[in-house]
Amino acid sequence: MKRSTGHDRAVTTSWGPATRAVRGGTLRSEFGETSEAIFLTSGYAYDSAGQAAARFRGDEPGMTYSRLQNPTVAMVEERLCLLEGAEACRMTASGMAAMTHALMSHLSAGDHLVAGRALFGSCRVLVDTILPRFGIATTVVDGRDTDAWARARRPNTRAFFLETPSNPGLDIVDIAAVADIGHDAGALVVVDNAFASPVLQRPLALGADVVAHSATKHMDGQGRVLAGAVLGSERWINDTYLAMARHTGPVLSAFNAWVVLKSLETIDLRVRRACANALEVATALEPRVARLLYPGLASHPQHDLAMRQMSAGGTIIALFVDDRAQAHAVLDTLELIDISNNLGDSRSLMTHPASTTHASVPEAVREEMGITEGMLRLSVGLEDAADLIADLDQALRAAGR
Ligand SMILES: *Cc1c(COP(=O)(O)O)cnc(C)c1O
Repeated sequence: MKRSTGHDRAVTTSWGPATRAVRGGTLRSEFGETSEAIFLTSGYAYDSAGQAAARFRGDEPGMTYSRLQNPTVAMVEERLCLLEGAEACRMTASGMAAMTHALMSHLSAGDHLVAGRALFGSCRVLVDTILPRFGIATTVVDGRDTDAWARARRPNTRAFFLETPSNPGLDIVDIAAVADIGHDAGALVVVDNAFASPVLQRPLALGADVVAHSATKHMDGQGRVLAGAVLGSERWINDTYLAMARHTGPVLSAFNAWVVLKSLETIDLRVRRACANALEVATALEPRVARLLYPGLASHPQHDLAMRQMSAGGTIIALFVDDRAQAHAVLDTLELIDISNNLGDSRSLMTHPASTTHASVPEAVREEMGITEGMLRLSVGLEDAADLIADLDQALRAAGR
């Protein structure tokens, strides 16, 4: 297969981020297609028995089986490497497959993990319940408190896991400071970068070792497919991640990989426009609610840190009304914005975390994560900001605010 002009890393890494998102990773077949092909194939045929043997020995480059490699999946992996500034990437069937394999491929029974407590609901279940079942001890800390990470270290600590900004409380963790503490302890520092996306934040450049993603969110960006990604050094991906994932098979289908690949072409435009909308909506809404959290506003308690490590405030706003009844009343009166627990879509979506995404998290843990009964999470999309503000204004008024 012929690679498109300038495919070598030496050339692609000289491109700016928007060029990388459009052109990075393209593999062009002998037909010269402009839009990348979908290779729906589970296997590959060889010219000779000797060639098959050489591929299996690793002496000859080339693909052997789609649990291990696929051309469409390889395109999106290379494009994401360029966006995150990573040496290597493997796509997964969902964000949770990425989180689970990033941690379980690295940790063994007897090891210890420290995690920021403000995590996506299923990530919290992974840390609190699933990993301990396999003999991995876990400690959760207030991720905003850098000293708490240092205090939680043990001689057997082998990984730090954090999400910033967090879902849905929008806590910010100082990636560079926490990565230093993790490295002192000999821990692998894993960052869930789903909320910010590589457009706004590049954890590897700040010192993290591994980035794990839900590509379901801003990468697809149009609410169609589930997907995930794990990125890190060539050595860690080959020796640690693939030592497990080659055999457990959490891979992304070629079709879903193609959807994400084509969406990445517009990720820079989409995320920047959604951030501009979110800033406008947050500014208009702040005086209308009991409390509002948006990392791009000076009123966010960690605004300075957020602006140091992200290039904009993000696409998610947390707003607080009186109680569950008022929060549900706001949702039930929305005319434009959908009630949905997804996020990072071109459509603005709103949810009540305490009764949906975090309903399975015990109430005490919810409170510790700042998820109150009156909290609403708004994922700002690509509509006109004025229409979003008008919809929220009429819904708040109808709910008695
Ligand atoms: C959605 C999400 C996940 C899980 O991703 P799926 O693609 O739904 O499996 C993990 N972390 C964060 C921060 C998320 O928003």
